[in-house]
Amino acid sequence: MYDLGDKRWLINLNQIKPSGKKVMLTFDDGPGKHLPLILDILKEKQVKALFFWQSRLLYNGRPWKRVLKDGHLIGSHASNHTNLTSLTKELQYRHIQGSVEKIETITGGQVKYFRPPFGQYNEDTMEILHDLNLTPVMWDLTSYDWNHQENPTCIKTNIISHLQEGSIILLHELKQTTMILPELIDEIRNQGYEFELIS
Ligand SMILES: [Zn+2]
Repeated sequence: MYDLGDKRWLINLNQIKPSGKKVMLTFDDGPGKHLPLILDILKEKQVKALFFWQSRLLYNGRPWKRVLKDGHLIGSHASNHTNLTSLTKELQYRHIQGSVEKIETITGGQVKYFRPPFGQYNEDTMEILHDLNLTPVMWDLTSYDWNHQENPTCIKTNIISHLQEGSIILLHELKQTTMILPELIDEIRNQGYEFELIS
């Protein structure tokens, strides 16, 4: 279901990242049913994160107000999880622009950041993002959390063993991720890192 995308592009795209001994948490593919628990944990641990939402999952009953009130950011992960590179430019535009419009209409806030599904994009995608004034945010550290339903501790190990200054960490709104999130946050801090949210 998930794909890491093309690493060469990732390097080029990581122009936005925390500086110094700081890292940023990102949660993809929501808003889903585990979001309230993720918000509880982040609040308790005083960490702010960037959520990339599929706009098809966003409706008024989702706790988007709390996400914003707690100081997190909501970015677009397109309308559904279609690989944008399989679409014409016109269709890509509809998926991207439509998702941003829906999120902005419901939340009343401006969407500034975009992450393509599967990390996959092409020149058309980049032109559209430029035209819509959206900043792409990729990641340089994945937890492979979708693979570790049976053994959530691996999620933490994957991250801690690859942590570096400025890391943008890819997580998902999954049950196994909520199970290790508190200890993951503690361990990142134990390693001497702080959390920072780009603004
Ligand atoms: Zn995704």
